[in-house]
Amino acid sequence: MENCIFCKIANGEIPSNTLYEDDDFRVILDIEPATKGHALILPKKHFANLYEIDDERASKVLLVAKQMATKMQKALNCDGLNVVQNNGVAAGQTVFHFHMHLVPRYEQDDAGLDMPNKKAADYDLKEVAAQIIG
Ligand code: AMP
Ligand code: ZN
Repeated sequence: MENCIFCKIANGEIPSNTLYEDDDFRVILDIEPATKGHALILPKKHFANLYEIDDERASKVLLVAKQMATKMQKALNCDGLNVVQNNGVAAGQTVFHFHMHLVPRYEQDDAGLDMPNKKAADYDLKEVAAQIIG
């Protein structure tokens, strides 16, 4: 992908604050962090989103997330940590190269990644399950 900024960062053509790198992934600090230590896991190969990433990297990415989250929690002494991965504009995706956010959370921070639950859905949950299962 010629004009993909995350392809360029992941492959080292554009410098970044790199926290970790292996053959498949680079982990960098987000340039506009929601909280101190906000990091992004980028595959070196281009995939637009979760629907497209290959199975091998899809399974590896959670291992990288686990290792990084553990290291970050110890180093930053954060009180919590969100793992966030957006797919599509409606979900807040702005860079269309798969990435996983690791967002350290601190008591009283203002990051606010809220997804408020509704007390009752105005559709039947059994029907939704049937629709998804097919
Ligand atoms: P998303 O909204 O899930 O697509 O997230 C894109 C993220 O990439 C945002 O948190 C941006 O701050 C971050 N971002 C965009 N450009 C850069 C860059 N050049 N280096 C590091 N992070 C970036
Ligand atoms: Zn890319």
